[in-house]
Amino acid sequence: MKYDSIIIGGGIIGLLTAKELIKSEMSVLLVDSGTTGNESSWAGGGILSALSPWKVPRAISDLAQWSQNNYQSLVEELINSTQINPELTKSGMMIIGSHDMDQCFSWAEKQDINTDRLSKNELARLAPNLNKKYHSALFLPDIYQIRNPLLLEALKVYLLQQGVSILEQSCIENLLIENQRCLGFKLNNSNYLSDNIIIASGAWSGNLVKSNRCNLKISPVRGQMISFKCNKNLFSQIILKNELYLIPRTDGLVLSGSTVENAGFNKNITEDGLKALKKFAIELVPELSNCKTIRHWSGLRPFSESGLPLIGKIPNIQNLYVNTGHYRNGILLAPASARLLADIILNRLPIIDPAPYSIEF
Ligand SMILES: Cc1cc2nc3c(=O)[nH]c(=O)nc-3n(C[C@H](O)[C@H](O)[C@H](O)COP(=O)(O)OP(=O)(O)OC[C@H]3O[C@@H](n4cnc5c(N)ncnc54)[C@H](O)[C@@H]3O)c2cc1C
Repeated sequence: MKYDSIIIGGGIIGLLTAKELIKSEMSVLLVDSGTTGNESSWAGGGILSALSPWKVPRAISDLAQWSQNNYQSLVEELINSTQINPELTKSGMMIIGSHDMDQCFSWAEKQDINTDRLSKNELARLAPNLNKKYHSALFLPDIYQIRNPLLLEALKVYLLQQGVSILEQSCIENLLIENQRCLGFKLNNSNYLSDNIIIASGAWSGNLVKSNRCNLKISPVRGQMISFKCNKNLFSQIILKNELYLIPRTDGLVLSGSTVENAGFNKNITEDGLKALKKFAIELVPELSNCKTIRHWSGLRPFSESGLPLIGKIPNIQNLYVNTGHYRNGILLAPASARLLADIILNRLPIIDPAPYSIEF
């Protein structure tokens, strides 16, 4: 079987890369070892901002800005085609106890981003259920969130409608590489061939090329989250403190996340994780102690040693590309990363300079 492009990994990065490639009439095969959209992309919180956006390097903020500008039209297209609404919501992000408020303000001013310093009274008005011990906060009113599980569901339906072939429960263990050229892979005695093979396998991306003397420098970082079911909306903003956050969904669900743990590929949830996330949530919004914790889960974030996503061609093997390493920002950065890789593959003028994300060994 021969396709114009084969994508290995059906998380947010693989799904959106497929969406970009079919725009230029390519035939695309998307393969996943489980079902698409069930790993880190499902586990994420869906905040469409870096947690401290004023601290991230330019190479991250360039991708973030492009994605933020394009999320609205992406979601509209998905709703029109699939009738699945991923609930893109302008919640705003409230930052409590930040020590670098001045740095944040000067960043916001330079970037022309709305930022407010909230007084005790404003805080009490905007978030009346927040612990009264907090007297001030920083507020970024234009930050959006998205319900990532619904986004993933919509993307899969959309791609199937558009004729993308999706092969699930198919773990690719080896690539067919001859004379430094990647041809595709072999599965159940069939060869799947393509001119463009794209690794978008999240935290597992490095495993596929290890035997070919490529070291992708991607490793898993576990994140645990919990959710509370509340009968009414206790607050409407994302609340962030010391890199932990609460995310209110429109139906009264509140997510508390997330741990940052080096546990290899172990995705187990832990009692300590549950306790820490509950304690954090109840300390910020005491009313949550009356709400039931209904779910506890984890995901493996693809951490890139360089601190930046890897987007581009693998240097010593022809036809082989990678789109991975988005760590804590994959939902945010996915639209721009997918578009940038498509620009590289199709030899188009790229949306931004691809150099910072290039792969070096
Ligand atoms: C708890 C938590 C909270 C987060 N919150 C946010 C947030 O609020 N905002 C944000 O922007 N980001 C967030 N993130 C980060 C974000 O979720 C990730 O950066 C992003 O999901 C990575 O997407 P991906 O497609 O690269 O990986 P994944 O979603 O993990 O997808 C990789 C896919 O590849 C498949 N695969 C792996 N190996 C193979 C193989 N050999 N053959 C075939 N298929 C294979 C897997 O089955 C999987 O489906 C969070 C992450 C976690 C864990």
